[in-house]
Amino acid sequence: MKIDDLNEEIKGCTKCRLSESRINALCGEGDLNAKLMLIAQAPGENEDREGKMFIGPSGKVLDELLKMADIDRKEVYMTNLVKCMLPNYRKPKQDEIEACSHYLDKEIELINPEILAPLGYYAVKYIFEKYAIVLPPKAEYHKILGNVFLSGDTKIIPLQHPASVLYNHSMKDVLIKSYRNMKVVLENCK
Ligand code: SF4
Repeated sequence: MKIDDLNEEIKGCTKCRLSESRINALCGEGDLNAKLMLIAQAPGENEDREGKMFIGPSGKVLDELLKMADIDRKEVYMTNLVKCMLPNYRKPKQDEIEACSHYLDKEIELINPEILAPLGYYAVKYIFEKYAIVLPPKAEYHKILGNVFLSGDTKIIPLQHPASVLYNHSMKDVLIKSYRNMKVVLENCK
């Protein structure tokens, strides 16, 4: 399967209840030869309306973090665990993740990045389970953020979602450091 065929499938998908409230099912975006894949939880309102990844306030934070780490957004592939917006920004339900995550699995297979950076708890949980990495209990979850985990040749760097900076400005310095560390790992992949 090619990425264009996969994207057409995503755009027309009605496999779960989220298809009833979305405007756009969001396909991944970016460099098809990317070494780094960012995996967010689900599109927000702006992304749903415009059909584009990471626009609006959290997109601005992400752009700033990438710029400060000297990572070019055009060289990154970005996608979501769940391709349709979650009403009122609620958490994804397990059956929605189960219905949708095979699209992410296919994207990972097609893009074949060296680094996966899941953003936020649900994306981190999914990727850790997929690669058989033990996720610590929620109380200790914050300790793994920004660390590098290895699964075969794939490096996994769990991170807070950029939107966390909008609610807690003190997160910004932590994320700047994590993105700069990610750049170092990225350079070592070349
Ligand atoms: Fe399909 Fe995923 Fe959207 Fe559900 S969330 S309708 S599975 S694309």
